[in-house]
Amino acid sequence: MKTGLQVGLETSLPPEAALQKQSRWNWQEVNMASRINTRLTDAYGRTLDYLRISLTDRCDFRCVYCLPPEGVDPIKQKAVLATDEVLRLARVFAALGVCRVRLTGGEPLLRKDIVSLVRGLSTITGIEELLLTTNGSRLAGMVGLLKQAGLKGVNISIDSLQRQRFSAITGRDRLREVVCGLQQAVKQSLKVKINTVALKGLSRVEVHDLCDLAYQLPIEVRFLEVMPLCGSAWQPNLGLSLSTVRTWIEEKFKLVPLARHYQPAESFSLQGGVGRIGFIQPLSQPFCHTCNRLRLTADGTLRLCLYAHASVDLCRPLRQGASDREIGNIIKAAIWHKPLGYEVLKNTTNHATLPKIRQLGG
Ligand code: SAM
Ligand code: SF4
Repeated sequence: MKTGLQVGLETSLPPEAALQKQSRWNWQEVNMASRINTRLTDAYGRTLDYLRISLTDRCDFRCVYCLPPEGVDPIKQKAVLATDEVLRLARVFAALGVCRVRLTGGEPLLRKDIVSLVRGLSTITGIEELLLTTNGSRLAGMVGLLKQAGLKGVNISIDSLQRQRFSAITGRDRLREVVCGLQQAVKQSLKVKINTVALKGLSRVEVHDLCDLAYQLPIEVRFLEVMPLCGSAWQPNLGLSLSTVRTWIEEKFKLVPLARHYQPAESFSLQGGVGRIGFIQPLSQPFCHTCNRLRLTADGTLRLCLYAHASVDLCRPLRQGASDREIGNIIKAAIWHKPLGYEVLKNTTNHATLPKIRQLGG
């Protein structure tokens, strides 16, 4: 059901113009509508309660499927949101119904204030789960501090357990450090997932080695389809089909399906084992209809979809003194325009024009 406020925001006004318009609104009406429209719902009826915050566009790795050879325009340091600005925006999102936050990047553990950020975010009313996605290169020494600060889980990107192939993919010989971070995270009982992008060259042996980890440890190993979000680095034959990966797994393990609960990953337990296996196929099995995600970039831009350039600047109003309610109204106005990503992708002929995951946060 549309509320008066949603109808008001449904216009094609750019959100900042909507903000100016709202400043002339009858605040009694806005207050009433805000109470009715307590959750962030978009034009397709999707409730957006999961925010991924990119803390930096910098990274110490150069993954072949992420960083294009031409590089990406770096965000200027003064444009990057400071600790208190991230916390303030997160509070506004939480008041609007966001209950799950994931910190990402670039590489989020490059942020010097990462522990303070985690501590601050984990105490925000409404945020029930605070998670992190990392390349793991700096994780080992920080796991205890992050857990104490309130981190609940960590996704570690490991595309290969073979040192040479790992170095060829990431541009860094850091597999040992990453595995050490993984061991520490398991030891600290964080919720741990491994993200493995299925690239051509991934072998049956590597897939079995990764599954062995999930067999022995309470972790989920997820195989991801590679997406065309890397500028000119994208080639249609960059990836390996997940049906091949699954066939290899089933040669050695029995996969027992688990309830999906609108999750992007199709998950399985391994019969006789401790952990799980997941498959994420945004291209061949898009889950746009149940997407609950919003993304905030390191410079305070709200991005509505991985595949679309649709965005709204939250940093400017924040730095110009907008109130929480005004920022909240910009967010509400913007999310109405959240597209169905696969429609955008279907209509894109030149994939190099799509957003780059490195800039908007994976
Ligand atoms: N640096 C951190 C890391 O690698 O985990 C966080 C940022 S990274 C952009 C987040 C996730 O996006 C990683 O799991 C990475 O493997 C994935 N990713 C990056 N480029 C991708 C692409 N073109 N297709 C699919 N996944 C991608
Ligand atoms: Fe860095 Fe993560 Fe991109 Fe690799 S996938 S280059 S680790 S941001």
